[in-house]
Amino acid sequence: MSFNLVQAYARAPMVFERGEGSWLFDTQGEKWLDAGAGIAVNVLGHADPRLVRVLTEQAGRLWHTSNLYRIAEQERLAQALTERTFAASVFFTNSGTEACEAAVKMARRYWHIKGSPERNEIITLNASFHGRSLGMISAAGGEKLIDGFSPLLPGFRRVDANDSDAVAEAVDANTAAIMVEPVLGEGGILPLEDWYLAGLRELCDRTGCLLILDEIQCGMGRTGKLFAHEWTGIEPDIMAIAKGIGGGFPLGACLAKAHAAEGISPGTHGSTYGGNPLACRIGREVLDIVAEPEFLADVREKAGRLRQRLEAVVATRPDIFTEIRGSGLMLGLVCKVPGSDVIEAGYRRNLLTVPASGNVVRILPPLTATPDELDEVCLRLDSAAAEIEAGSHA
Ligand SMILES: *Cc1c(COP(=O)(O)O)cnc(C)c1O
Repeated sequence: MSFNLVQAYARAPMVFERGEGSWLFDTQGEKWLDAGAGIAVNVLGHADPRLVRVLTEQAGRLWHTSNLYRIAEQERLAQALTERTFAASVFFTNSGTEACEAAVKMARRYWHIKGSPERNEIITLNASFHGRSLGMISAAGGEKLIDGFSPLLPGFRRVDANDSDAVAEAVDANTAAIMVEPVLGEGGILPLEDWYLAGLRELCDRTGCLLILDEIQCGMGRTGKLFAHEWTGIEPDIMAIAKGIGGGFPLGACLAKAHAAEGISPGTHGSTYGGNPLACRIGREVLDIVAEPEFLADVREKAGRLRQRLEAVVATRPDIFTEIRGSGLMLGLVCKVPGSDVIEAGYRRNLLTVPASGNVVRILPPLTATPDELDEVCLRLDSAAAEIEAGSHA
């Protein structure tokens, strides 16, 4: 442990020095199976040769110029993103938090230029997560997120997920937008129901509110569609993405329909690094690979098999697990024992998984994980559960 780092994280002790596909190698020479993918980031696994090639080529050509000038790679990635989504335009950021911030600022400016600046309130969900800036902890409002950081920003109102009456009641003359994750990630892999998302779209259409989706964790192929909302057939007005789009390189984006982006005119928002050539070149490569219909079909097929096998693990270990939930390769094992016990027993089997709220263990493998590797995840999880069972009977 390093005392020269601000102690913001409770870190596990291993130090990884190399990765290849779904595997990581630590400084002790141990080989680890990665079912966390850097929290849904490494969608193509580690050291994907295609990404290594475009990164090194771009690194030898141009890293950064600034948004004072046109950036060809940024324009190319924006075109690729808009061709494949509901969006007409894109604002690039370095992180998910910034993408959500851009989305909220865009929604407020939309009403500002419409002459209704009082419409500035954003409705969000309890148990949601949109990042760690003051704005986004104020938006999500979770106890752990906000503790000690007052005063928070006003202008957010929260309701429970999958409760259409609650959200309909919360909308009033001051509402600018509703912002939700189609599958709540940090909150414990809680999928929003199709009818609920469709209801949000209708509510927004009826009231003029903008619908903002945070697909930072559930987007980029994670659920087996390029974006999770495609399962329901609805379209948002604004969408925040990050994590998977960079494949491990810091990159985020705020995508918008034409009307939604109208308030953002020159000088109203910006970023020094956002959309730099290096990040955007990598993002374009990731998108080209992940958006291929065969790639997404393969994710859905593997996800179906993984789900079945995990159901079997849950069924055979009822003292440890209560349920498996989620979508595609974004799954949550709801635990009866502390989730951290399961994660640590996984570490003893060189398996990496990710915690979430509500005693949930997240399974977020690279989208390129092979069926054999996913079977191995299940075997190691079952063995981890068996160890805990044995311990609790001792
Ligand atoms: C990770 C995450 C964020 C924050 O992204 P950062 O890159 O850490 O700023 C926001 N929303 C969701 C849903 C996330 O999963």
